[in-house]
Amino acid sequence: MGQIRSPHPDRVSRIRSLLSDQELDAVLIQNPANIFYLVGFSGSDGALLISGAKTVLLVDGRYITQAGAETPSSEIVEYRDKTKGITRFIAENGFRRIGFESSVMSFQQHHDLASQTSGTDWIPIARGIEELRSIKDAEELSCIRKAIALSTRAFQIVMAEARPGMCEREIAIELDYRMRREGAENVSFSTIVASGENSALPHAKPGSRRLAPGDLVVIDFGSVYRGYCSDETCTVAVGPLSPVNKEIYQIVKDAHDIALEAIKDGAFCRDIDKLVRDFIDNKGYGPYFSHATGHGVGLEVHEFPRLNRLSEAVLKSGMVITVEPGVYIPGQGGVRIEDMVLVREHGCEKLTELPKELKFI
Ligand code: ZN
Ligand code: ZN
Repeated sequence: MGQIRSPHPDRVSRIRSLLSDQELDAVLIQNPANIFYLVGFSGSDGALLISGAKTVLLVDGRYITQAGAETPSSEIVEYRDKTKGITRFIAENGFRRIGFESSVMSFQQHHDLASQTSGTDWIPIARGIEELRSIKDAEELSCIRKAIALSTRAFQIVMAEARPGMCEREIAIELDYRMRREGAENVSFSTIVASGENSALPHAKPGSRRLAPGDLVVIDFGSVYRGYCSDETCTVAVGPLSPVNKEIYQIVKDAHDIALEAIKDGAFCRDIDKLVRDFIDNKGYGPYFSHATGHGVGLEVHEFPRLNRLSEAVLKSGMVITVEPGVYIPGQGGVRIEDMVLVREHGCEKLTELPKELKFI
């Protein structure tokens, strides 16, 4: 087996150094995005165990063929019951200290594993792999750029046909269809099309409301290409807009631009969030900006780091994050403007391509 190379041997060896740093015999990885990142297995269920000498992927019968094809560098072991499969493997190898993803393992599974492996210590590893994943290499960036290009084309096609009188669901369905036609393997989350008073709900579900003059329409969408997500929001207008709606659009756009100016290697995520929040607050709309300023994007649409008030994270060159300020006035309307950027040493590169100047349909 030794001569078969992992597609990403460097990533697995980073995990091995985590083992020696924390004196672990092995680490158990169950987040499918982390498994895909480390060994390339794209199934939705499995358990990856990495020890100093072995990389073993445990899967159930549905995934045996796929696991063999996708992860030639791992030993593949079949289980009927996941917890029993893991405990048998641990017992066979005599592992005493196992790291696990504390934000992934359920309380029930932890209880079952701990009670079936009485001589083994289970050591939580918080975010170690997510931090590795936050810095994107060239191959990952090209997948992200491709996901963005697909969704950009889809948006342009759909918006060229969008008219007042169309309902939110119609636009959302068209956008999903177009992203798939352009080559997306999936949408990265349920597309949001929220018009009029619905646009004041940051996570509205597209419904039967028809676009009407005076509406702001928040459209949040993204696609997946080779596992990597895009995430972008355009707010468009059905003219003419009320003075308040025009004003909040400009405030959100300015807040977004200020964040883009400030993003660079070494900046604290919470400082970027504060900059945006203070700006919106000074304009009198602080209470109407109800979510974080942004988040990392990659194999998961929301991943480390988070740009919020409490974040301890520092931006690093190679991270891909969103900037998405918003103002939502209940019963009236809302605006969100979201771009993806690549953090660079002295600034950032905007990855998303659609212009964010106010557009009327
Ligand atoms: Zn979004
Ligand atoms: Zn987002």
